[in-house]
Amino acid sequence: MVTQPRLWDIPIQFVKGVGPRRARLLEKLGILTVEDALWFVPWRYDDRLEVLPIRNLLPGMKATIKGRVETCRVNTTSRRRLVVVTVLVRDETGVLECVFFNQPYLEKMFLRGVSVLVSGAVAPNPHGRSPLMMKGPQYELLVADDLENEAGGRIVPVYHETYGLTSKQIRRIIQSIFEQYAQNLYEILPDDLRKQLGFPTLSDALSAVHCPDQAQSVDLLNQQATPAHQRLAFEELFLLQLALATKRHLQVTATPGIAFSKHNVLLGKLEKVLPFSLTTAQKRVIHEIFQDMNQSTCMNRLLQGDVGCGKTVVALHAMVMACGSGYQAALMAPTEVLSEQHYWSLKPLFEGLNISCVLLKGGQGGRDRAAILAGIQSGDVQVVVGTHALLQPDVQFAKLGLVIVDEQHKFGVLQRAALREKSLWQPDVLVMTATPIPRTLAMTWYGDLDVSVIDEFPPGKKSIQTKLFEAKNRSRAHQLLRNELEAGRQAYVVYPLVEPSEKVDLLAAIEAADHLREQFSPFRVGLLHGRLPSREKQAVMSKFQQKEIDVLVATTVVEVGLDVHNATVMLIEHAERFGLAQLHQLRGRVGRGQHQGHCLLIHALGRIPPYNQQMSFTVEASGGLRQGQRSVSPSEVSQATARRRLSVFAQCDDGFVLAEEDLKIRGPGHVLGVKQWGEITFRVADLARDVSLLTKARQVAGELLYRDPDLSFPENQLLKETFLRKWGEKLMLGSIG
Ligand code: ADP
Ligand code: MG
Repeated sequence: MVTQPRLWDIPIQFVKGVGPRRARLLEKLGILTVEDALWFVPWRYDDRLEVLPIRNLLPGMKATIKGRVETCRVNTTSRRRLVVVTVLVRDETGVLECVFFNQPYLEKMFLRGVSVLVSGAVAPNPHGRSPLMMKGPQYELLVADDLENEAGGRIVPVYHETYGLTSKQIRRIIQSIFEQYAQNLYEILPDDLRKQLGFPTLSDALSAVHCPDQAQSVDLLNQQATPAHQRLAFEELFLLQLALATKRHLQVTATPGIAFSKHNVLLGKLEKVLPFSLTTAQKRVIHEIFQDMNQSTCMNRLLQGDVGCGKTVVALHAMVMACGSGYQAALMAPTEVLSEQHYWSLKPLFEGLNISCVLLKGGQGGRDRAAILAGIQSGDVQVVVGTHALLQPDVQFAKLGLVIVDEQHKFGVLQRAALREKSLWQPDVLVMTATPIPRTLAMTWYGDLDVSVIDEFPPGKKSIQTKLFEAKNRSRAHQLLRNELEAGRQAYVVYPLVEPSEKVDLLAAIEAADHLREQFSPFRVGLLHGRLPSREKQAVMSKFQQKEIDVLVATTVVEVGLDVHNATVMLIEHAERFGLAQLHQLRGRVGRGQHQGHCLLIHALGRIPPYNQQMSFTVEASGGLRQGQRSVSPSEVSQATARRRLSVFAQCDDGFVLAEEDLKIRGPGHVLGVKQWGEITFRVADLARDVSLLTKARQVAGELLYRDPDLSFPENQLLKETFLRKWGEKLMLGSIG
């Protein structure tokens, strides 16, 4: 029985040496409790063995030196408005210039005479005051007693700092937590499980991370790959997986679902009206979906598949199964444009089966809408297609059995939890997403769903030629575009529009349309953007579909699924501003018919070297992004990653590979294209890195809940308490608490 207060209940001010001022600074780092501090793991470890005399440095080497600050100067470059702090450090053997970008506050820290440890890559310094230099090195300010104190420790943990609180001070605070609260560091993993997984205890793991064994490999520590780091990462992933598995379990048991019949006449007819035969992958996922729908529990399934792999026909099967069993089905798309497209492509098939299908639009007039709503309420209407506005309270279904959400991954598990809570019905739910999502992300963001993947394309899909152009070579891209137009094809020209309110982007698209109109005359140029009234949008789209428009200039709306077989060129302006997933979506819009597709990317990144696996994704760039302490300026970092992104993209057209890459480069929020990702955060675990840990965590969570579904065994009590505290509220698991 644990009687000690929980670590998360102990405010950080209780720690010796932490007063109100420090507490405020720690809060900036996200540290409010003793638990937060213990999970604030070093972002890096310094190997102090190799403190070299400055005289012994050579260009190209990575080294650590120790010296005193001689001068510190701040300049602002005129051209790029960078703040450059230049620090001259002297030891007994020489001087070394250290240069930092955009960290003006360093001036107040590198005071003359202060002792510093500096660690980084050594470079020649032709114009400086020392023959060699370090750009953006790691540094630590040493106080007088450090020199002796640190001398014994070869491996020194380094923490993210905030202004007014140094890594060293954080280290001390964490040390005093270990002294003061050692007895509160109890284990939450059941002992058998922990041993079976081969992990150290929580207390051993935390101490190994904060006070590493001097014999430990610094490389392993820096990769966060020691057993201690793995244990911490595992624990975080495991707690979330337990919560998600509980959520799935609740969804299945709490509300009875509908057992649809597989043997209905309509399904038999469907095979006959389909203009093609299904791919093996389509058959497999349809089988998985039918299994779910056939059971008397609610289906909660995610259907993943790259653009063009044929998800619509899978959705169609599910809807026909629902209708054939006497229920209604709803298909929701993220935009009106896309819902209309779904509607028009499905309508003939539904008609062939005598299924009544309506399109519910935002702008529909009162009378039309009333008639449609009445049909839905009476049950005369069997399938309703629309946007998420379908979930509004005035839409009353007679017998809604299936909801299909074609969502472009806008809803995560947290949003879905809220949505279900609000709704009175409990239909089966199939979520479709067109963006391949790395497995780790699917297991978290969509962790409450079962997953089906279509990993095969319908026959005849051609790969698309992708070419990169510097902005100054735009005319070459335009020449390719013209060739295609002259061959009778059509083209998209896409402009980024990050926020709908960004007038500048919008203006750029409008101007471009005017310009292209002149340039490509007599070819017809149309413009599509989010600010157009929905009716006008529809008009432009159908003109493009009917080849009354040759070039469609668009902000990113085409992303969500226009299907125009004669379009063969996708020209993307400011390609550097798009994520890989978005680019991949856009590329999927062309080459859908029998002609070769071309994707032309125009960017402002200068020359981009071809991508190869070994290409060192510059340490600076990843360091700068992930760890906050920049050794290059932010704009340089984003340029480096953008370059890498585009060169990967030009050479790879496997959506899953691109998604993994996007996850590594830009993180989960960007891959998913959502802002809310922040609600699911880890302190040690990393979804781009910890694939096998996550898989293990999911498996172990499943096994544990199988043996002890409501975690009532005594050895599981702490585990239950912990995961409910972390996730209970967010995932609305209240009922099991
Ligand atoms: P997405 O998965 O991107 O939604 P769609 O469902 O729009 O893909 O399908 C892309 C195209 O492939 C459509 O034109 C569709 O008619 C066609 N298609 C789908 N399945 C098959 C198949 N088994 N054989 C041939 N063509 C197919
Ligand atoms: Mg689709």
